[in-house]
Amino acid sequence: MKKPKNLNLYAQSGYRSYERQESIFAYYVERSGEEKASRVSANAGHSEHQTGLAMDVTTPEVNFQLVTSFEDTPEGQWIKENAAQFGFIIRYPKDKEKITGYQYEPWHLRFVGKEPAKVIHEQGLTLEEYLGFE
Ligand SMILES: [Zn+2]
Repeated sequence: MKKPKNLNLYAQSGYRSYERQESIFAYYVERSGEEKASRVSANAGHSEHQTGLAMDVTTPEVNFQLVTSFEDTPEGQWIKENAAQFGFIIRYPKDKEKITGYQYEPWHLRFVGKEPAKVIHEQGLTLEEYLGFE
């Protein structure tokens, strides 16, 4: 593994309680209606963040926001190439919205363990495809 230089990665969101997820979802519904909300956020009880196995990462380059342009930053590139070595996958990949039910989220990492992460990464799968749900 090449040693990364000067990367500024920040965990912006990790474990969330049911109540916290409920208020986040309510915020999106308020802002853009239930249909749009369900594509960018999970209903309480349905978020991976409630499992403690998901983490949103970001960088000062995108003002600590969770935006798709994160993928173009050195941090986003590093995550894309190296997360699997640590057992993490980009859970909602680009162009897989129909399978995952979520828009592309280059910042949302899910811990699945090193072996599954390696296969998922190398074969360009979603977790659903890896588990045989698709
Ligand atoms: Zn997330």
